[in-house]
Amino acid sequence: MALSGLEIFKLLPKTNCKKCGKPTCLAFAMALAQKKAKLEECPEASDETRSALAEASAPPISLVKFGTGDNEVQVGQETVVFRHDEKFYNPTVIAASVSDKLTGDALKGRIECINSLQFERVGTHLQVNAVAVINESGSADTFASVAETVKGASPLAMILVSDSPEALSAAAGKVADVTPLLASATSDTAEAVAKIGKENNCPVVAQGDSVEVLAELTDKIKAAGVEDIVLSLKAQSFKDELYGLSEIRAVALKKTFRPLGYPTISFVLDGNSEAQAAKGMSLICKYSSIVVIETVERHAIFPMLTTVTNIFTDPQKPVQVEAKVYKVGEPGAESPLLMTTNFSLTYYTVESDAEASRVPCYILVVDTEGTSVLTAYSGDKLNEKVVAEAMKKNEVEGLVKHHKLIIPGYVAVMSGKLEEETGWEIAVGPRESSMLPKYLQEVA
Ligand code: SF4
Repeated sequence: MALSGLEIFKLLPKTNCKKCGKPTCLAFAMALAQKKAKLEECPEASDETRSALAEASAPPISLVKFGTGDNEVQVGQETVVFRHDEKFYNPTVIAASVSDKLTGDALKGRIECINSLQFERVGTHLQVNAVAVINESGSADTFASVAETVKGASPLAMILVSDSPEALSAAAGKVADVTPLLASATSDTAEAVAKIGKENNCPVVAQGDSVEVLAELTDKIKAAGVEDIVLSLKAQSFKDELYGLSEIRAVALKKTFRPLGYPTISFVLDGNSEAQAAKGMSLICKYSSIVVIETVERHAIFPMLTTVTNIFTDPQKPVQVEAKVYKVGEPGAESPLLMTTNFSLTYYTVESDAEASRVPCYILVVDTEGTSVLTAYSGDKLNEKVVAEAMKKNEVEGLVKHHKLIIPGYVAVMSGKLEEETGWEIAVGPRESSMLPKYLQEVA
């Protein structure tokens, strides 16, 4: 269990040397107990102290990695139950399943389809992150052979899913170099699967039908020498799974209960695509670190990836683009110059509508701390001085000859002052970005 601030304090040198950045050892001990400091920040701590404090300084939910190179994924190490308390750190991994009953072109087609599950959304690249090979054939050799085929055909991280330690061992032997996640060890197979994980240096999934069983199981797997563990709660119903996952997260963080301090995995392998997407999105919210899904329908995968993006962005930090001049097409000195703010959604909406007009133009993006046009204007982050400064900084004078700036219709009210401040002609564009194509075609 975690140590209290006073217990930690007793183990520190008590010299108050301040090398950790805190005024006293007591202040450092309190910060360490609240996970607001790291033990390495005290250079004076002895080896004995370090080992005694390892428990207190370890993250309440372990970090687990699998896959290799650019396609390595990491899950866990979350620090809060509620996103608004701080933020969530390691986005849920979405894995698409591949049955080892597939052969030939069907297998090849399924892998290609999974590889192509990639999307662009408001300037962000989204994609499925892993492939879960499922041992439905019941044959260890077939499972190993399909795992090897998947390794050769997909760069994505891999999860090997089988109840059979023999099948896991055969497949891990073929693909250990890409560090697959081994799923799953149960109460009956814990030692055998942990041994495979240890020999192949792979993380292991512990699967149980209750939170209590999982807590016992992780102790067993850890005792067998595997530190990287992922929890799979095989609950009676979907509702029970969500409740159980919430309990695991709360107990791991609020009680620092180490046996449940691991990331989690959920399997959504039946139902139609829409039902799978709905379940997947619920699991992303509470609190699956990895969701294995059977559907590869783009209309089901895209909302899940969007949910991951939304849940794992910092709620205290608006998503923003760099404030600078962007080109749409190949604009020249006579092309229109538009202005907008650096809130990501605003910018990409304007950019896509400007593109739709097929009129090459420039977009001057003003730094409004990631807020939209009206929000920025009402908070005085968008005014004539801010725009004039951005025009100067980005040297728009040298870009276009016409000295005419198109501002969003919603801030038409600032056109007079902006004209006075800059000496430029200020044209008021449409209020809605969707009207930009028509507007640009008319003014160009
Ligand atoms: Fe105390 Fe260590 Fe901080 Fe020095 S660096 S004040 S010894 S906790």
